[in-house]
Order: sequence, then structure tokens, then C-alpha cells
Amino acid sequence: MNYELDHEDIRDSLRRLCADFEGPYWRKCDREQAYPGEFVQALTDAGYLAALIPEEYGGSGLPISAAAAILETIHHAGSNAAACHAQMYTMGTVLRHGSEQQKQQYLPAIADGSLRLQAFGVTEPGSGTDTTALRTTARRDGDDYIVNGQKIWTSRAEHSDLMLLLCRTTARDQVEKKTDGLSVLLVDMRDCDEKSLTIRPIRTMMNHATTEVFFDNMRVPAENLIGEEGKGFRYILSGMNAERILISAECIGDAKWFTDTSSRYASERKVFGRAIGQNQGVQFPIAKAYAQMRAAELVLREAVRLYEAGGNPGEEANMAKMLAADASWAAAEACVQTHGGFGFAEEYDIERKFREARLYQVAPISTNLILSYIAEHVLGMPRSY
Ligand SMILES: Cc1cc2nc3c(=O)[nH]c(=O)nc-3n(C[C@H](O)[C@H](O)[C@H](O)COP(=O)(O)OP(=O)(O)OC[C@H]3O[C@@H](n4cnc5c(N)ncnc54)[C@H](O)[C@@H]3O)c2cc1C
Repeated sequence: MNYELDHEDIRDSLRRLCADFEGPYWRKCDREQAYPGEFVQALTDAGYLAALIPEEYGGSGLPISAAAAILETIHHAGSNAAACHAQMYTMGTVLRHGSEQQKQQYLPAIADGSLRLQAFGVTEPGSGTDTTALRTTARRDGDDYIVNGQKIWTSRAEHSDLMLLLCRTTARDQVEKKTDGLSVLLVDMRDCDEKSLTIRPIRTMMNHATTEVFFDNMRVPAENLIGEEGKGFRYILSGMNAERILISAECIGDAKWFTDTSSRYASERKVFGRAIGQNQGVQFPIAKAYAQMRAAELVLREAVRLYEAGGNPGEEANMAKMLAADASWAAAEACVQTHGGFGFAEEYDIERKFREARLYQVAPISTNLILSYIAEHVLGMPRSY
């Protein structure tokens, strides 16, 4: 199956790169909950993680459709970009809101792979989806901020040099709007001692290198503040459409992998003397998931088109994320069912991909929150929370 229309050269070279990282590699990482460092290095060396960094800062300056093609192809090949995808969109906050000095200092090093910006600390145990209720504080002390608090689900913190951190610089009861008083700090974790910054891995149902992070009087130079103090929430929000678009592309890639795998197996596996794929009960869930994926792909393409035209496609990016995550989940479910008992066997990679695909119903934004965004911001209904 090959219905991709754009960036065929990028997709081709990615397929070749991913061919060096087949099922056994991912199964070993998954079993050991090990970071796929070799894969991330190969992507870095080939320049893919710098796709969105402008050429003047050492990147390729490609449009978001190219980044989407990269992530989709990785997932379609059965690989997993979760180990590094955030580097693509997290640096957007520095690019859009950082000072020229910060961009010069960090972006070329991120582009050439000598510096990793993989960690993004927003979620906290006490606030969850209600981001503005976060309690991590940064208090100004001379030329530094002193950070105290805790983050959870900070993925890749152990494998990153830098962390983009959202924290409160003015107490919630001292600001007019709860979205004010939050600031973004670019934390160079190499400068932090173990006492002020503690990172603890969280074992999860899939291999995701996620952690909880504790800050105990951690000093961050004030020059690492991104943009203006107190305006951090809108800086983070401004990167959300890119994040939604890129995660959708990964889900589309997963859905394609599941569907290819299902249709191939259904055509080959013989039970009662004929291919199981001859039975409509086996065909239909696969065909339905495929149709869902194609529909989601169209919405994603529309989100990309509007984004590249300079728009702010909150509606399309959110819908694409939800529809693509639903399509990949439907395709995952059909794939396990099509394979019968073999769907549960580690060596088929299906159960691994199944666990990986489940995440996108919840993170980086849950389906409910996308539905309430559509209800409120697109359909004009009252805010529910
Ligand atoms: C593996 C993994 C990696 C992650 N990586 C990162 C990361 O790198 N950086 C980071 O900052 N965060 C990360 N997250 C956090 C992720 O973004 C959150 O888990 C997600 O946004 C949901 O927040 P929560 O877990 O606190 O759920 P909660 O906010 O506690 O919500 C629980 C459930 O209630 C529902 N719910 C809550 N409020 C409402 C409402 N008003 N209406 C309807 N339903 C509602 C939610 O949809 C959800 O299903 C990661 C999470 C996971 C699991």
C-alpha cells in the first residue's frame, strides 16, 4: 500500500533508516524498558530531528508537512518516535519566543545533535489537565530563579540535556487571570546537582522513558527565562497545534502499520481450508479502521495546509489528533483480533504496538479535552470546567 503523496524522498530515506531497526531491536528495548539511543542517534545524524529548525540556526528549515511525513513513516515502519518526537516541537517555543541570544546559543547545538531538548515539564500530580493549577514555583533571587515543586510524566528527562519547564512566578491569587503568572524556563539539567534536581523513572505499560521530577531549591539563571515573565502559558499554548499535528501523523503511521499487518496476515493465514481474510467478519473491522484512518488523514492534511499557510488551525489540529488516535486504536484492535492468539505473542510486535497506540487516547491531550475544546471553541457551547 502506498498512498502517500508528499515528501516521497524523505519517506524513502526514512524507510531505509528504519530497516536497520526492526522488530527485534524494538522488542529488546521494550523488554528492558531501555531508551532506543541508537535509533535516536541515527535520526539525529541524518538531520531528521532538526527538520523544523530554520537553516540560519543549522537546521533544515522544512515545513511541518515534512516533519509529519518523518514521524508518520517511522511509525508506519513499526518503529516508535516517542523517544524523540518532542525535540521537533518543543524547540518551537525557543524559536518563537526565545531571545536572539538564546536562539544562537541553543538551536545550532540542538540541530547538530550535541545538545538534546527532549524534556517538557508541564504536567503535575496535583493539577493534571488543569494546567494553570500547577504548583511548581520559580522565585527570583538576584540573577537566578529558585525553583521548587514537582512534575510528573516528564518524558525523556534522563535522556535530555535541556528541559522546557512551565512554572508559576506569580501566585494564582495575585493574578487577574489564572493563565497569567506562569513562566517558561529553559533548564540546563547538566548544571543541576542531584540534590536540587531528582529524576525518577516511572515504569509504564509501554517503553516511554517517562519520569517524575523533583525540584528542591534548583537555581536556574534568569537569562534562561523564555520571553516575558508571567506569559509562559500562552507560549506553551502557541506550540500546541504543531504538537497535535505531529502526534496525529504518528497515529496515522501506526494505523497504517496495523492495517498492512492485518491485511497481509488475513490473506495468508488459512483456517478451515481457506484464508481467514475471505470471511467478512475478519475483513470488515480492518476495512473500517482503514476508512477511519483515511478520513483522519484528510483532516490532518487540512490542518497541515492551514498551519503552513500561517493560520492557527486549533479546530483541525485537535480534530486530527482525536480522529487519528481513534483510527490507530481501531486498527490496533482489529490487528490483535485478526491474529487470534498470535496477536498476543511478543515476536509479532502487535502487542507492543497495541500498548504504544493506547497512549494517544490520553496524552498529550485526552479525547475528552479535545471534545470540550470543539464544544466550546468551535460550537460556542458553555465552558464545562
Ligand atoms: C506516557 C506518558 C507520557 C507523558 N509525557 C508528558 C511529558 O513529556 N510532559 C508533560 O508535561 N506531560 C506528559 N504526560 C502527561 C499527559 O499530558 C497527561 O497524562 C494528560 O494530559 C492527562 O492528564 P492527567 O494524567 O493528569 O489526567 P487527569 O487530568 O487527572 O484526567 C483524568 C481523566 O479525566 C478526564 N477529565 C479531566 N477533566 C475533565 C473534564 N473537565 N471534562 C471531561 N473529562 C475530564 C481526562 O480526560 C482523563 O481521561 C505524559 C503522560 C503519559 C501517560
